[in-house]
Amino acid sequence: MIRIDRGPEPLELPDVRRDELERFRAIVLTSGYDRNQLGTRYTAVKEALWRRQELKCCYCEKVCENVGNDLEHYRPTSRYWWLAWTWENLLFACQNCNRWAKNDDFPLADEKTRLKAEESPPQGEQPQLVDPATEDPLDSIQFVWDEASDRWLPRPRGASVKGAETIRVLELDRQALLELFQNYVRDYLMPDVNHLRELMKNGNEHAVRDTWKRNVRRALQRTMFYTALAHDVFDHYFPEDERRRWGLELPRP
Ligand SMILES: [Zn+2]
Repeated sequence: MIRIDRGPEPLELPDVRRDELERFRAIVLTSGYDRNQLGTRYTAVKEALWRRQELKCCYCEKVCENVGNDLEHYRPTSRYWWLAWTWENLLFACQNCNRWAKNDDFPLADEKTRLKAEESPPQGEQPQLVDPATEDPLDSIQFVWDEASDRWLPRPRGASVKGAETIRVLELDRQALLELFQNYVRDYLMPDVNHLRELMKNGNEHAVRDTWKRNVRRALQRTMFYTALAHDVFDHYFPEDERRRWGLELPRP
C-alpha cells in the first residue's frame, strides 16, 4: 500500500451527492440501511479514482480492471451511509481486499468515539485502518522476509497497532496474495538485486550508482505493482548504512 493523491472532486459529484443523500436518507429513516438501495450513480467517480490510482487497488497494489472491482468506501456505508458519496471517503479497491476481506470492518482506537449519523469525520474518531489518501502507509506497514515460510510478509512497522489492524482487516497476508508478492520479487526484483551485488563486488562505483538509479526508479514508479514491497526489498538487501557508503538513495514510492 502506498500514499494516494485522489486529486480534486469530480465536477458531477456534488449534485449526485445531494440527490442521492436525500433519496437514501428517506430509505434509512423508513426501513433502515439497505446496501442494495445505494444505487450506481458513482460509476464515473470509480473510473476517475481507478485512473488516479494508476489502475491499482488502493490496498494491495494489484493492477486490475475497474469493471468487476469496487468503489471502496474507507468508512463503510453500512456504518456511515451518509458518507457514501463523499469524495474524501472514496477509493478504488479490488474485490479481494474490499468484499472478501474488509467488508464492514472499521476498527477504532476507542469504540465510544464512533461517529453518530450524519456527523462529519473525524470528530474524536481514531481509525485503526490506514487511509492511503491521508497518510503514508509505509509508516505503519513493512514487508519483511520470513525464512521459515519462504515468503515476504506484511508486518506492522515498529509496534504500529494501526499497521497490525490494517493487515488483519484487509487480510494483506492472505496466501494467494503472498504468492503474487513472492513471484514478483523472484522474477522482477531479484535479477536486479543480484546484478547490483555483482557490480558492488567488482567495486565499479559508477556502474553501481547508474544501475541503482535506473532499477530503483523503474521498480518504484507509481504505475508498477507492489511498489511498497519493492521499496522494502531494496531496503532489506541494501540497508541504509550500505546505501550511504555508495551514495545511493531509496525514495519512498
Ligand atoms: Zn486489493
